[in-house]
Amino acid sequence: MGFATDCIHAGQEPEPHTGAVTIPIYQTSTYVQPELGRHKGYEYARTKNPTRSALEANLAALERGRHGHCFASGMSAIDVVFRTLQAGDHVVAGEDMYGGSFRLFHRVLEKFGLTFTYVDTSNIDSVSAAIKPETKVLYLETPTNPMMRISDIAACADVAHRAGAMVVVDNTFCSPYIQRPIELGADVVVHSTTKFLNGHSDSVGGVVVSNSDEFAEKVGFLQNAVGAILSPFDSWLVLRGTKTLAVRMKRHEENGVAMARYLASNRKVKKVNYPGLPDHPQHALAKRQMNGFGSMISFELGTRENAKAFLDRVKLCSLAESLGGVETLISHPESMTHGSVPPENRKRLGITPGLVRISVGIEDIEDLIGDLENAFEGM
Ligand SMILES: *Cc1c(COP(=O)(O)O)cnc(C)c1O
Repeated sequence: MGFATDCIHAGQEPEPHTGAVTIPIYQTSTYVQPELGRHKGYEYARTKNPTRSALEANLAALERGRHGHCFASGMSAIDVVFRTLQAGDHVVAGEDMYGGSFRLFHRVLEKFGLTFTYVDTSNIDSVSAAIKPETKVLYLETPTNPMMRISDIAACADVAHRAGAMVVVDNTFCSPYIQRPIELGADVVVHSTTKFLNGHSDSVGGVVVSNSDEFAEKVGFLQNAVGAILSPFDSWLVLRGTKTLAVRMKRHEENGVAMARYLASNRKVKKVNYPGLPDHPQHALAKRQMNGFGSMISFELGTRENAKAFLDRVKLCSLAESLGGVETLISHPESMTHGSVPPENRKRLGITPGLVRISVGIEDIEDLIGDLENAFEGM
């Protein structure tokens, strides 16, 4: 089936008792067993819940993987991937990534004996050079957050697989509409479903999608053993979100391209980071690897004063952390999403005091550009 059809139907059989078209919210903690030793596949709701199972099947299908497991947040999904490793294992990760993932690796997982090397994963030679005999995972974000650099997933998978490591891609910035890492050779995809997948800024959640039965079994075991599960209500919200994923993403993409062009033409903007612009260093790779370029853009206003004057004047765009909602969200990475990244790393990556990030929503583009025009006037 096509992607839009899968968004609406994959994993979502009508409910068998009543024929309800929409998967109900199974708000139950346990399930009655007809006799000792016999049950209907559900025993206790941490282990399994039908609303969550429907979402897990749906998200696995959209990412073209065989297995999905949903968690209470994107961070808990990422955490579980690393709990499949052991003390002494090594991870190669992107140097420019979601600040919360860096915090998890550096402040939590290192204490349990995992080691990390951070490299520019858009440079395949740096990736090769960082891999050691004990490397078990190559962890990628592409595009990166917030600098929008692109890594070649197929080439990275080649290098990692030759060394016996698996490739995990955080696909939150794209959603499977824009990019499907498993089709490009990745082993595992993680998402913060909080962002584009749910899409309405009203739920926090995460998912791990994989193709290997063996890896999925470990994730399923950890989902139950650790217990950071997605609630039935949140599972239902994300399912409601994915039904419109294809139409939302199409519009996000159109607005993203138009906004990037507008910003690139504005003399107060020093630089625009967006893979859809022809002057982006990996524009050709992005064109090949992605279906469109998404709606995440960062741009440089030169100084913190400029960024503050601009951000204080936007009205329609909401100054907020997060991304991927139907409404346009705008933020200041240095002080907001990337506050937990050490200052010297921020400097090296280009996360300057004048950098602004925008997650372009699906409003009328004329209204969004009008709002920015007005904000630029006060700068
Ligand atoms: C938001 C985000 C996360 C963390 O997800 P939560 O749902 O907030 O826990 C991880 N990776 C990326 C790229 C994100 O944007």
